[in-house]
Parts: sequence; C-alpha cells; structure tokens
Amino acid sequence: MRALLSLVIGFGVIALGNYWFNPYLPICRLPVAYSIGNFDEAFNISREEALLALEDAEAVWEESLGRDDIFVYKDDSLVHINFIYDERQQEAAEAESIRRDLSIRGDANEVLVELHGRLVSEYDTYNIEYKSRLSQYESEQDEYNAEVERYNQQGGAPPDVYEKLESERERLDSERRSINELAEKLTDLAAQINEIGDKGNELVGEYNLRVNQFNDTFAQGHEYTQGDYRGREINVYSFVSHEELVMVLAHELGHSLAIGHVENPQSMMYYLMDEQPYPATLTDEDKEAFALACEGNFGLRLLGSFQAVYNGLIN
Ligand SMILES: [Zn+2]
Repeated sequence: MRALLSLVIGFGVIALGNYWFNPYLPICRLPVAYSIGNFDEAFNISREEALLALEDAEAVWEESLGRDDIFVYKDDSLVHINFIYDERQQEAAEAESIRRDLSIRGDANEVLVELHGRLVSEYDTYNIEYKSRLSQYESEQDEYNAEVERYNQQGGAPPDVYEKLESERERLDSERRSINELAEKLTDLAAQINEIGDKGNELVGEYNLRVNQFNDTFAQGHEYTQGDYRGREINVYSFVSHEELVMVLAHELGHSLAIGHVENPQSMMYYLMDEQPYPATLTDEDKEAFALACEGNFGLRLLGSFQAVYNGLIN
C-alpha cells in the first residue's frame, strides 16, 4: 500500500511538473494541426513569409521521415504559433547588423591585404631588375671611363674610336636615366605599400576590437531561447533570416510531437542551435526520438513523453 501510494504520488508530481513547467501535449498524435496565432508585424516579415518558413520547417520532418502526415496547417488548430516581438528580437537584429558590419570590414581588409601583397610582389620584381641593371651599368660605366682615360693618355682617340665612345656614352646616359626612373617607381611603390600597411593595421586593429566587443556581448551559445513550446503554444521570439526561422520552427514543432532534446549537436532536437546543417535534415537521433514518441505502442509513447518531460523541454 505504501509502495502504491508513493507510486501514485510519484506520478502526481510528474504530472504536476508537466503541468506547471511544461504543459506538453501529453502524447504524440499525428498529424499535429497548427496555425499562426498572434503575429507581430514588427518582425518585418509578412504572414506569407512566415507560412513559407513553416512549410520548410514541416518539410524538415516530413521529407527526412518520408511521410506527409506529421503536420498539417489548419485554421482551427489546437497548436498556435505566435510571433512575439520583444527585446530578444531587437537584440538579435542589433547583433545581426554588427555581424554584417564586421563581415564588410573583413572583406575590406581582405581587399587591402590582397592589394598590399600585389604591390609588394611588384616592388620585389622591380627591385631585382633595378639592382641587376644598376650593377651592370656601374661596371660598364667603369669600363667606359677606363677606356676614355686610356685614349686621353695617348693624346686622344682616332675618329672611328671616338665615334664609338660617344655612342657608348649616350647609351650609358640613357640607361642611367632609365635606371633613375625605375628608382623613382620603387620609391613610389614603397610609399604606397607603407600607406596601405598603415591603413591595413588601423583597419585590422579596429576590426579585432569590434570582434572582441561583439563576442563579449553576443556570442554566447545560441540556446533555443529564440522560441519555446508551452503546450499548444509555440512562441517565436527571434530570428535574423528565413533559414534561422525555419530551424527554430522545426525545433519547436519537434517539441509539439512530445519529443525532447537529443545529444547530437547536429540534431534538430539538440538543445542549442549549433552544428546543424542547412538545409536542415533530421539525424538518426532525431528519427529515433520521433519513433519513440510517435511510432511505438501506447506504453512506449507514454514513456517517451515522460522522458521528454524529464529532459526538460523548456525551449
Ligand atoms: Zn528545445
């Protein structure tokens, strides 16, 4: 009798816990009919866009499981999907705008780094040419001077040699001018490289500062607090893209099947929005949870439902 009493109390506590903290549909009954309940226009998406995201979220389950009877949209449904706009979406929108800004800055950095690299390689090429031409010029000029000196000591060059020496002098002069132009080009390039380097350092410094600020403010684990499921009400609080809305809806729709969280970070029913791929599909763990909740015999499904409660299906 005492054993029976404690069993009854035990179930009572579970049921009460279920009622207060997480009033789930007690057991998976297919199809789950849902409709849009409260829809706050502040989210900046139309009702049609919300419906498209719901269709995609539905497809995550139905296509992965190869059946089309899991969810159905019905105006007088028990499950309502509410779009509730509050500070969570404001914060998400702010984070998204900073993320975009960072991505633009990151791209700008990359362009700068690429340009810097190109100029440095151009500089190196010209510098090799400059050094080699300068060294050749200097040795030819020395040779020329020595020859002129030799003929001067002999009292002057004969006319044909004189002409040859003159044309060599002109060639050397023109080569020197050309080498000087190359030197100027190198100076210009070096100035450009330094300027870009300074600008790049400035940008990178600013970028890193902002990334750190962003990480401090926003980049904690993305728990599924962007939505929650409270027995017959799915509330959506924040999303920054169609993809993210689909993920949140698919996760919360999973809870409406009385499915709890599973352990694989790639799973739709993992408690964090983490390593799930997009387009989303179900993992084996998701499918097992579905089978347990919706395809077993009544006893197993009831067990699954209690397990789900124990796993803390809050979000
Ligand atoms: Zn959840």
